Amino acid sequence: MPLCESESIVLKSYNLAEADRIVVFFTREFGMIRGVAKGSRRTKSKFGSALEPFSEVSLEYFEKDDRELVSIQNADLIRSAFSTAAKPERLATYAYVAELLIAFAPPHDPNETLYRMVRACLDADIHKPAESAALRLYFEIWILRLGGVLPDWTNCGVCKRTFRDPESASLGAGFDLICGDCSRSPGKEMIAPLHRHLLFATKKLAPADYIAEAVDQAAAVSELSSLMRRQISVVVGRSIEHHQFVSTFDS
Ligand SMILES: [Zn+2]
Repeated sequence: MPLCESESIVLKSYNLAEADRIVVFFTREFGMIRGVAKGSRRTKSKFGSALEPFSEVSLEYFEKDDRELVSIQNADLIRSAFSTAAKPERLATYAYVAELLIAFAPPHDPNETLYRMVRACLDADIHKPAESAALRLYFEIWILRLGGVLPDWTNCGVCKRTFRDPESASLGAGFDLICGDCSRSPGKEMIAPLHRHLLFATKKLAPADYIAEAVDQAAAVSELSSLMRRQISVVVGRSIEHHQFVSTFDS
């Protein structure tokens, strides 16, 4: 029963019995981990506020071969979520990011790129609903890309021709894009150059820069986001909703 240690982001927690919690962590070294934090609901718990969702902690836990839940020994606060997650707008957005992450990241499968991206998303300054919407879109696109299920929107899905800059295209059945020459059924959903641009820009920009660029394109962000959510629900088999207001702890 070796002691595992890793920088971790607290994603979510559930009350368990009278004094304990089950906490879901995204760890840098080991990927998604679920564990029991004994006594963490007591007022004088050794964990203090380290298990608040979206805190970053230095986590220590024991893994047991036959159990899905690890045993959390220690969590030292690296960065408190208090100042960033205190605003309902941010909290709701982070909770949504956490849900996507839980749905996509397999347990015990480390992903350094994804860890850094989640951190960068939590760092991004969001105040307005339009900024929150841009950050949600950014993460939706990235989680699909990292999952290997983001369609390639550089080429027509049928003739493979590369799209020209100002060209609109229609949406294919597999969320691919079909050029005007190949599309035989009019009335399909149209994807504008701006939508393509918003999708490609996630690859080049950090979350904060993406938000700055997308914040004035609210309509296109909302359209593209609804399309990404449709694809997410196809991949995970259920829809994942962004709720406007959430409480810090599920009880
Ligand atoms: Zn074509």
